[in-house]
Amino acid sequence: MVGDGVVIVGAGHAGGQAAAVLRAKGYGGTIRLLGEEPHAPYERPPLSKALLAGEIEPVRTYLRKSEFYGEKNIDLRIGIRVEAIEREARRVVLAGDEALGYEKLILATGSVNRQLDIPGVELAGVRYLRSLDESLALRSDLEDAGEVVVVGGGYIGLEVAATARKMGAHVTVLEMLDRIMARVVAPEMSDYVAACHRDQGVEIRTGVAVTGFEGDERLSAVRLSDDSTLPADFAVVGVGVVPNDGLAAACGLEVENGIVVDEFTQTSDPDIFAIGDVTNHPNGHYRRRLRLENVQNAMDQAKAAALAICGTPEAYSEVPWFWSDQFDLKIQIAGLTEGADQVVVRQVTDENRFAVAYLKAGVLIALDAINAPKDFMQARKLIPTNAQPDLAKLADPAVALRDTV
Ligand code: FAD
Repeated sequence: MVGDGVVIVGAGHAGGQAAAVLRAKGYGGTIRLLGEEPHAPYERPPLSKALLAGEIEPVRTYLRKSEFYGEKNIDLRIGIRVEAIEREARRVVLAGDEALGYEKLILATGSVNRQLDIPGVELAGVRYLRSLDESLALRSDLEDAGEVVVVGGGYIGLEVAATARKMGAHVTVLEMLDRIMARVVAPEMSDYVAACHRDQGVEIRTGVAVTGFEGDERLSAVRLSDDSTLPADFAVVGVGVVPNDGLAAACGLEVENGIVVDEFTQTSDPDIFAIGDVTNHPNGHYRRRLRLENVQNAMDQAKAAALAICGTPEAYSEVPWFWSDQFDLKIQIAGLTEGADQVVVRQVTDENRFAVAYLKAGVLIALDAINAPKDFMQARKLIPTNAQPDLAKLADPAVALRDTV
């Protein structure tokens, strides 16, 4: 089979964006966008926030209107799983044995939820959250849920906890480590967010693992490592994700904690690119390899792949950023905290405004902002410059972040 055009595997945030940017940059060949889910590309952030809360309907999560794909001559095929990549023949094999040739292939297969391997995980009422359909199913569960247990005190678990609480459930968050969000934020930030959840009536229990789910067919209780049990109508498991890199590994691409790509999103095969959650990529600012699970990375790598395919490559080297909404906390994160040796808190109590700046050898490497959008925006500008803030000014929230250097 003679390959033609670009085939994109995975019609999620990164894949959908790559197709759009290819056309916007003037790519004139065939674009085939193949997605296993029964939906056009959509945004996942609302799945644990507004969509789950019933504040918006699924159509509002779509990246683009359905007419867009026809208008831009993008062959969007949904409900189709790519089963294999045949690199020598330059084609992808679909379920049902149909094959499609490519000149360039983009892998945008995202990540999948890490699964718990404990007794009772198959019981009805134990849920994971990754897809639109899972969010809608959980939303209908939550409409009349009494006791909800959230397993995992990371961003997604905490967003689900906040939404479920707002919908009237009694919510308990179980976190194995000694504080929530422990891997990515300073204790000051964990404490602030935990206090807000507790004020809203969410119970947070740390240092406790789930050892099993109990019930006859349906979940009725969650068993904990101290051998106690908690009543539960529903449990939502949010214990992280793993890269969905099986297709890439099976066809011999270099894979190590994600598909290994360069700063142009090219894999170890020059005709194959990979973008989004599934990649292990170099970051020019932090000078190390990263695997990120955020919209900024999906969007920016989609652009990098499209530019490389159009013959106008631009290296991808963004300082990562991320956001999360929990109750009335608008959390925005700029940069990565790993390696920080000092933190400085900026707090205005009566405005519920709070920020934590992370420094490494005096250089600002990251900032977590709560209801502090100016700090967040200014941090995004300062971090790439390796700014060295004055510590006294930094600790004074009346001094604008940009004026601390
Ligand atoms: P995905 O969006 O996961 O898309 C991958 C797609 O590929 C999927 O549709 C999958 O079905 C498809 N696919 C996989 N294998 C195949 C195959 N073999 N054949 C065909 N199709 C295939 N990020 C933020 O920055 N801020 C947030 O507030 C935020 N909130 C989030 C809340 C939730 C509940 C979730 C789940 C994620 C959230 N994220 C957030 C993360 C963000 O959504 C992801 O980083 C982003 O979706 C990654 O895009 P992607 O295209 O790489 O992967």
